[in-house]
Amino acid sequence: MAVNTNDLMNTIVSLAKRRGFIFQSSEIYGGLNSCWDYGPLGVELKRNVKDAWWRAMVTNRRDIVGLDASILMHPKVWEASGHLTGFSDPMVDCKKCKERFRADHLENLDKCPKPKCGGELTEVRKFNLMFKTFMGPVEDSSATVYMRPETAQGIFVNFLNVQQASRLKPPFGIAQIGKSFRNEITPGNFTYRTREFEQMEMEFFVPPAEDDKWYGYWRDARLQWYKDYGIKPEHLRLRDHEKDELAHYAKACVDVEYLFPFGWSELEGIANRTDYDLKQHEQHSGKGMAFFDDESKQHYYPFVVEPAAGADRATLAFLVDAYDVEGEGKDERVVLRFHPALAPIKVAVLPLVKKDGMPEMGEKIYRDLLDNSIKSFYDQTASIGRRYARQDEAGTPFCVTIDTQSLEDQTVTVRERDSREQYRVASSELVGLIQKKMRESMR
Ligand code: ATP
Repeated sequence: MAVNTNDLMNTIVSLAKRRGFIFQSSEIYGGLNSCWDYGPLGVELKRNVKDAWWRAMVTNRRDIVGLDASILMHPKVWEASGHLTGFSDPMVDCKKCKERFRADHLENLDKCPKPKCGGELTEVRKFNLMFKTFMGPVEDSSATVYMRPETAQGIFVNFLNVQQASRLKPPFGIAQIGKSFRNEITPGNFTYRTREFEQMEMEFFVPPAEDDKWYGYWRDARLQWYKDYGIKPEHLRLRDHEKDELAHYAKACVDVEYLFPFGWSELEGIANRTDYDLKQHEQHSGKGMAFFDDESKQHYYPFVVEPAAGADRATLAFLVDAYDVEGEGKDERVVLRFHPALAPIKVAVLPLVKKDGMPEMGEKIYRDLLDNSIKSFYDQTASIGRRYARQDEAGTPFCVTIDTQSLEDQTVTVRERDSREQYRVASSELVGLIQKKMRESMR
């Protein structure tokens, strides 16, 4: 069945709530604008997305190490990085309906874009996106600290700590996953733009002469990562930034964009940040930030190529892209075709009936899967068709049923989510089979 793209986002938002992927924050109090909570399925999905990123960026590589820096940093960090003066968006307010807009998102600055309003707009003003708070008991300006608006600065200020502790030399990278905060003027599109979100950033430090080579490398590698985890290639594109769009310190920047129901939008940016950040921190801290090359016996400032992704945006893209409606009428099924590595639940164990020893056998199989760290789910209620439908809608790649024959010959039926193919295997071989299928899906 064809799905109207205008309705698709609403359908996904309600599925996300009903099945426990994503809830509105503080819902019983009317919600808090732009804040969302991940439920039991959502937290698994997002965790799997972050794990997939960490595997690709850190675990499976010899040249990248991880970091977990604190969210609150010395206020001078934001002076050095340029966020205190430059991290702002232009905004306007409607004098009539009081709504606030990003001036650079409006075509016409003469009147309110809301069709029923059309009120007069204020002058364009700059609005700093950093959240401020106070450290300690005294709320004065000397105690002001900021919630980090990006994780990258925690990496730059630790560049030499990490380099010396790990004894890596450029080209090498430092990766970090963590929360960032931006007081966005116009958050929206579900979890796409929020004020509290999680980033997955990696700063790759390279000899200056190798910057173009590595920029090209990370462009390709990051686009491929989304494809490897199942996003349809026709829903992905790279968009190079125009010269006038580039941050003043960046030599080049490209966005990985995804075709969301609301249009092509950024998932991740890959930028050549040159040696700007290290030099800025050297200047503001008075501490040398250059790398000493043992071979040439010289100091130099590495250039930085940065792939900066959002964990929430990536999770949303994987959710939207997985959504599929198949068949019609009573044969219609909603299925989330997650890559097995991202699927919140890998296996559902379903005894055909609640008697004759089937639940006992099911329970044993379920225990065995959990003991092998395979996230599984046990369900013995409702008809088998209903139970398959529930699992399709949760994106579970494998269902295992236990029937009369299972009790006689110790075999179970495996049913695959996408093809609906069914086959019997010895119950003693089930864990091995699922592990093999999971491994194969990662290639
Ligand atoms: P945008 O242009 O959409 O505001 P950006 O170019 O400012 O994004 P970056 O500073 O490059 O974003 O941040 C890197 C990544 O962090 C983005 O590609 C996105 O995935 C994520 N991100 C940034 N802002 C938000 C937000 N408000 N909500 C959710 N994710 C975000």
